[in-house]
Amino acid sequence: MLRLALGNLSKLSRFSSPVSLNRFSAAAAAIPTPNPQQEVYFNKIFINNEWHDAVSKKTLPSINPATGEVICQVAEGDKADVDKAVKAARNAFKLGSPWRRMDASERGVLLNRLADLIERDRTYLATLEALDNGKPYAVAYAVDLNMVVKCLRYYAGWADKCHGKTIPMDGDFFCYTRHEPVGVCGQIIPWNFPLLMQAWKLGPALATGNVIVMKVAEQTPLTALYVANLIKEAGFPPGVVNIIPGFGPTAGAAIASHMDVDKVAFTGSTEVGHLIQKAAGGSNLKRITLELGGKSPNIIMSDADMDYAVEQAHFALFFNQGQCCCAGSRTYVQDSIYDEFLERSVERAKARVVGNPFDLNTEQGPQIDEEQFQKILGYISTGKREGAKLLCGGGVAADRGYFILFFFFFNLHKGQKVQIVSLIFGPVMQVLKFKSIEEVIERANDTQYGLAAAVFTRDLDKANYVSQGLRAGTVWINCYDVFGAQSPFGGYKTSGNGRELGEYGLEAYTEVKTVTIKVPQKNS
Ligand code: ADP
Repeated sequence: MLRLALGNLSKLSRFSSPVSLNRFSAAAAAIPTPNPQQEVYFNKIFINNEWHDAVSKKTLPSINPATGEVICQVAEGDKADVDKAVKAARNAFKLGSPWRRMDASERGVLLNRLADLIERDRTYLATLEALDNGKPYAVAYAVDLNMVVKCLRYYAGWADKCHGKTIPMDGDFFCYTRHEPVGVCGQIIPWNFPLLMQAWKLGPALATGNVIVMKVAEQTPLTALYVANLIKEAGFPPGVVNIIPGFGPTAGAAIASHMDVDKVAFTGSTEVGHLIQKAAGGSNLKRITLELGGKSPNIIMSDADMDYAVEQAHFALFFNQGQCCCAGSRTYVQDSIYDEFLERSVERAKARVVGNPFDLNTEQGPQIDEEQFQKILGYISTGKREGAKLLCGGGVAADRGYFILFFFFFNLHKGQKVQIVSLIFGPVMQVLKFKSIEEVIERANDTQYGLAAAVFTRDLDKANYVSQGLRAGTVWINCYDVFGAQSPFGGYKTSGNGRELGEYGLEAYTEVKTVTIKVPQKNS
């Protein structure tokens, strides 16, 4: 049923099957890999192209959300490990270092090689992603990994095409600008798309010649660490990319407040975004880009194609277990089609296949962890208490793991916490009724967030008018969650600062240097 949005799923029969799960036994520190010549880790700290235990020797468990069982213990980095990594990165960034002397075109070659290696190990990575995150293997393979490779190749192409300008100065001067790397970039990524968020961060930073200290989410460290092996294999010099698993308030905060980190790129919640901004401001005023939460409106006009709109609205909310910052979590439906839309949306949700991420028919796996699972169930209770009508609720779907079936709220009114304020980040659809275009634009914008929005209508004039009025970084017209490495993504208002992807995504990773040269005139 997700065929529309996830095109490649129709080619499931051509997939390799997931690799055997017993490879991921809890005891495995070094596991057999698709490349038997190399010993590969995904449970330690990666600094200087070497694998390290945490300075504190502490570990944290990475848990399979489908079962609640520990997959393996992973080194738990904190401030001491961040300090080590920043030192390594700073060293790799020294003038005259192999990385700084490398041709820009060669950086592009390395990024393309990394993309090749990820393609080589795609089955393995998709398996590990499904295991650690709970997302369906088929989605990890067809969607996440596809976008990862495309993102890295896109930025590989930019490596030798980022350049400055010559500027017509007054007087006897020649002036030009250089687009130089910012330096040591701290990158803090979330758990909902572990590999993809890693690629969005690595691509532009490496294309422009930066060095990286990345903190992966404590819930999903395994795949990003596996990619560290491939970074080394691709030939990136030691210290260029350093990856630390660890918790936010320790390892993450150490990056955000570090005096020798030049920039932080963060994807995660708006709450933590505030902390990052504060820490950056309270330390060395490092550059920051933030991609934060959203409560995105999805507007269905009465003239929309009903079948298509129902399917797309379903996808907009339920994709990735409802765990997308840009999820279409407020579905506004015009009054004349509201009842039919609601009924058909519920039917569609009832047909949703929730279950084992490794079953190729599964559309929805478990939520990421116990904390999110309880939070979502808490929102459902709050919603009911606040008087929002629960049309039907699927409930908890299994006796172990963090599986939740669908829920539908309707008759929501302004001020209900569940409606406007909260990012539920789960499979909870909210369907709201509107009458006029002006009204829906106003209600759609009545939120602190501004990440994404969508409108479904056959009337393009209407679509363009609405999209102009929406205060959001992305507006989809007659589609949802369409991403390309070429097109920028980011938020208005408290949904963030700056843009990722596309040419715009390069800006955050370069400093502009103005060079002015005295040009003596012949006769002076
Ligand atoms: P989510 O709600 O999706 O878990 P978070 O914003 O809590 O999002 O987490 C996203 C990333 O930010 C994770 O890597 C997490 O460890 C990190 N993080 C959490 N708290 C902090 C903090 N105080 N400082 C820096 N990073 C943090």
